[in-house]
Amino acid sequence: MRPIKQIHGDKAPHWVGDGFFVKTLINYVDDQPDFNYSHTDPFLLFDYGEPTTFAPNPDYQTQPHGIGKHPHKGFETVTLAYSGEISHADSIGGREDILEGDVQWMTAGRGILHEEFHSEAFGQRGGVFSMVQMRVNLPSAHKLTDPKYQFIKRAEMPIIELMDYSDADERTVIGHVAIIAGDWHGVAGSADTFTPVNMWDIALHTAGTIRYCSYKKAEYWSMAHLSVQAI
Ligand code: MN
Repeated sequence: MRPIKQIHGDKAPHWVGDGFFVKTLINYVDDQPDFNYSHTDPFLLFDYGEPTTFAPNPDYQTQPHGIGKHPHKGFETVTLAYSGEISHADSIGGREDILEGDVQWMTAGRGILHEEFHSEAFGQRGGVFSMVQMRVNLPSAHKLTDPKYQFIKRAEMPIIELMDYSDADERTVIGHVAIIAGDWHGVAGSADTFTPVNMWDIALHTAGTIRYCSYKKAEYWSMAHLSVQAI
């Protein structure tokens, strides 16, 4: 068990372009001591786009919300859409919409240019937009690897139900885990990563206590207890 080094508190949100209203919860920035969480390496940045309502954009074709062409190098960006959709296009010919629940794992490597806008469908209908973007450092041996991206559809992720431990029969589902990378009690995510990382998207729907991740019920028991209070 590793000791907790720091609890990262809430932050004021800011706009990235005109499409992403994010709170930067982790950042590796040398000249901003308040944000320089060097102990989080290989996680360089964690931007949480809190739910933000956008009106339908009648000018989508000429002025889509988002951020135009910009470079990345030496790390990976991992983008997860919770609500709304992101259109990605890049300098290696990649073009794809990240739909709700999907993950894009982009390896910038020796350099890539890309743009990130609301998708055309979302831009035209408007609604609530919420997403997460992380930056994962690349090991020095792979810093200048070829740029690429992996697209992981929600339907392709192993989803594990979390059961309430206080229910004697453990049949009450109080949440679920989508496994993006690494593994959860022996169940592997599909992302191919340079740095071994576990990345799970955990949703908790109701109050309860979890000690157990129930994919292979008889075989995997965990000592970890997770208590959830209804808000
Ligand atoms: Mn970007």
